[in-house]
Amino acid sequence: MSEPNRMGGRKMSEDKNLDYYKASIEEADQFNQNLFTSDIRQCERCPLHTDANLACPGFFVSLPVDILFLGQNPGASEDKVGRPFIGKAGKKLMELADSINLITSDTMVGFTNVIRCVTPDNRPPTGVEIQACSRWMQVELDMAEPKVVLLLGNTALGLAFENKRIGEVAGSARAIGNTIYVASYHPAAALHKKSPVIVESILSSLRLAKEILDK
Ligand code: URA
Repeated sequence: MSEPNRMGGRKMSEDKNLDYYKASIEEADQFNQNLFTSDIRQCERCPLHTDANLACPGFFVSLPVDILFLGQNPGASEDKVGRPFIGKAGKKLMELADSINLITSDTMVGFTNVIRCVTPDNRPPTGVEIQACSRWMQVELDMAEPKVVLLLGNTALGLAFENKRIGEVAGSARAIGNTIYVASYHPAAALHKKSPVIVESILSSLRLAKEILDK
């Protein structure tokens, strides 16, 4: 396994953390090179790699990060380019984050998922798949040292709120070590259910994350 290239505080380029989707794939990949990308792309720890086009390692605008957005698994759009949260759910998430000014040019952000390969028909990952990918989760958490992790949806919730469902704990926070985990509905829920209640709940979780970062 290669050593990570630590970039303490360096940014990809001015304001690229506000412009995640506009950063060219080349620029992003160059910035993220040595961050275990090749190890993750060669991973065969569970069978999901056989049907994945490109595994999606965490994407970090800089290291360490202030806030890490943690989803469930890459979808079809992510699988095409090998980057988390570049599809509709990611765009919704950033639209909501922007609406409360969560991310400024000084906020270092990262994106990753509990598992790094697409699943058949986007089904939730099994316990065995989550366990197999937990190695990369740990590597990325150690590398990113996030102040806040936004846990998006039930699968991500398992990192800090074991045996809870998102409906019970959305908007709650829990500290583990130096990191504060904030529970949120997944942005895909806002897209699918088109529910103003879910949108408001996600906004509350994002506001809580902002309060923690602003302290
Ligand atoms: N949904 C997720 O949970 N992660 C992604 O990367 C994309 C959609």
